[in-house]
Amino acid sequence: MLRMNKLAKTYFTDTVKTQALRPFDLEVKQGEFIAVVGPSGSGKTTFLNITGLLEDASGGEYWLDGVDVCTLSDKQKSRLRNEKIGFIFQSFNLIPELNIFDNVEMPLRYRRLSHAERKKRVEYALAQVGLHSRQTHYPSQLSGGQQQRVAIARALAGSPAFLLADEPTGNLDSKMADGVMSLLKEINAAGTTIIMVTHDLEQATQASRIVEVKDGVISEVDRHAQAIA
Ligand code: ADP
Ligand code: ADP
Repeated sequence: MLRMNKLAKTYFTDTVKTQALRPFDLEVKQGEFIAVVGPSGSGKTTFLNITGLLEDASGGEYWLDGVDVCTLSDKQKSRLRNEKIGFIFQSFNLIPELNIFDNVEMPLRYRRLSHAERKKRVEYALAQVGLHSRQTHYPSQLSGGQQQRVAIARALAGSPAFLLADEPTGNLDSKMADGVMSLLKEINAAGTTIIMVTHDLEQATQASRIVEVKDGVISEVDRHAQAIA
């Protein structure tokens, strides 16, 4: 599904050159749940932004479902992003002025879907996260955990090939965090690939693979070796 070959990212600002990601190879298969861990400033966000087609790599190849992303125009990239990728952020990023239904429907408005089809998808996605009865509520009327579930419904409504989650439980207390984590595991078990940045090592161990980013170096954590050590 995703294949990265010698992918790398260097930022140039005035006189400073930062090698945010050193060349790395990574393959992600359909149905995997990948946790991305590492200290602050190590390159996790850069990795997520490149994977999510929000930023271009500065070298290497990135294949997404057989498409060489680096050869696409910006317009083709945003179309691919809309079709294939669901985003979940630490800060939920819901629109306060819109009710829950409209928030979840938002990304579908960029697609050529009938009103009836959009409604069906929104309702299905809200049912998946257990918030079907809250359609006419506004984000401020929900708890943090519920708001994040709305954000997950918004990501799912587009039937993405994979979900990118940037510390999805970072703003939640531990009980709500557990709820969101269980939901993500359910969604993954139903077939959606997930790539999730997390600071929570206990959470990371619940993923099927752990990738560590350290000073721009991406490496796979060998969980078997870790268990023995
Ligand atoms: P993390 O998400 O692990 O905290 P980032 O990916 O945000 O790390 O940052 C990795 C490195 O790249 C840091 O040294 C950061 O300062 C640098 N960096 C990130 N974004 C930019 C940018 N837009 N311009 C210049 N340097 C950047
Ligand atoms: P942080 O974790 O640092 O608070 P976010 O997770 O909110 O930041 O955002 C991570 C990246 O995704 C940023 O580069 C931001 O510009 C981008 N971004 C944030 N919200 C959206 C959105 N709704 N759609 C597309 N890109 C977004």
